[in-house]
Amino acid sequence: MNSAATLNALMPVTPRPDIVFTRGSGARLFDADGRSYLDWVQGWAVNSLGHAPDELVSALAQQAVQLINPGPAFYNQPALDLAAWLVAHTCFDQVFFTSSGAEANEGAIKLARKWGQLHKGGAHEIITFHNSFHGRTLATMAATGKAGWDQLFAPAMPGFVKADYNDLESVRERIGPRTVAVMLEPIQGEAGVIPAAEGFLAALRTLCDEHGLLLIVDEVQTGCGRTGTLFAHEQAGIQPDIMTLGKGIGGGVPLGALLARNSVACFAYGDQGGTYCGNPLMCAAGLAVMEKIGAPGFLAHVQAMSKLLLAGLQQISQQFGLRAARGQGLLLALDLGRDIAAEVVSAARTQGFLLNAPRPHLLRFMPPLNSTAAELDEGLTRLAAVLTEVCANQISGPKHTA
Ligand SMILES: *Cc1c(COP(=O)(O)O)cnc(C)c1O
Repeated sequence: MNSAATLNALMPVTPRPDIVFTRGSGARLFDADGRSYLDWVQGWAVNSLGHAPDELVSALAQQAVQLINPGPAFYNQPALDLAAWLVAHTCFDQVFFTSSGAEANEGAIKLARKWGQLHKGGAHEIITFHNSFHGRTLATMAATGKAGWDQLFAPAMPGFVKADYNDLESVRERIGPRTVAVMLEPIQGEAGVIPAAEGFLAALRTLCDEHGLLLIVDEVQTGCGRTGTLFAHEQAGIQPDIMTLGKGIGGGVPLGALLARNSVACFAYGDQGGTYCGNPLMCAAGLAVMEKIGAPGFLAHVQAMSKLLLAGLQQISQQFGLRAARGQGLLLALDLGRDIAAEVVSAARTQGFLLNAPRPHLLRFMPPLNSTAAELDEGLTRLAAVLTEVCANQISGPKHTA
């Protein structure tokens, strides 16, 4: 066990359980004591193919001996190949690679502001949404719609106006002469897996076209197969102007991407960059992950597993008198109806099952996209066992009213 002094050398920016993980394989994690855990957190929907998948390990190993980083001002083959793959599989024409989702969103914000300077008389305001999440840099925190975040490191970066998710009129009301873009998640992940209502993205596309605004989709959480299609906005049949990726694209390693259509990609030399941006090691990993996700049959598997997991969650919901299960693909959530999610997460961990609770009343499920039916069944059985235990302990937990 590590001493308190060792543990305290890491800034305590989040509560961490007293476990040190030493190994991961597929859907499983193993701790320093050799205990095994079924992992449905997967680094927050980051490990698209589970822990240490062969494709990713060999791509990293091969690239590591070949070339790790020539610097961002030179071409390298993995960056060219991954950009070409993304352009071929989306409506976008150009890609800028980053090391995180927040950094990709920073790039999207900069690109929209630059476009506003060039084409819209200096318009720079971006309409984002209450309860949204876009990252933890100062600009992306200002874009984020979490209550209290505008005061956390005041003064907040100006230029963001918040509308209500799934409420087109509230967006229309906030459009003014300084508005340059609307930015949203196709499913609000951190808010509790809240999908855009049927027709909302299409209506936003039309509204943006009417007012000459850019539509930016933050697919850091929903992209790269997580929702059962390559990218979630495809399901709404729309073409955004800008898209950001992170999390799943790297399969666990730090990689993000900013994608834009030619009409919008207006950075001049020097406007954007970063020491690690587009390094071949991470891009080789991203290419291995995306080629796997794009391989024939892979997304059909995600959709089949989604049906299985959703049906199982709905059955558990009925059995325990909970609220609805929701979500798309393998980004699903279960509303517990009362604020017992933290207790469920902790009881599950004790039983060797890792879950995530983005809200006090809500569980979010992010198993690997290549999970088998047997693994999902195992998780559902474990979840039912944990709920039996927690509900027996706490029949009258505080009701969640929101
Ligand atoms: C996680 C997340 C981010 C931030 O990504 P980081 O890699 O943590 O910076 C941004 N947007 C959405 C929708 C996310 O889920």
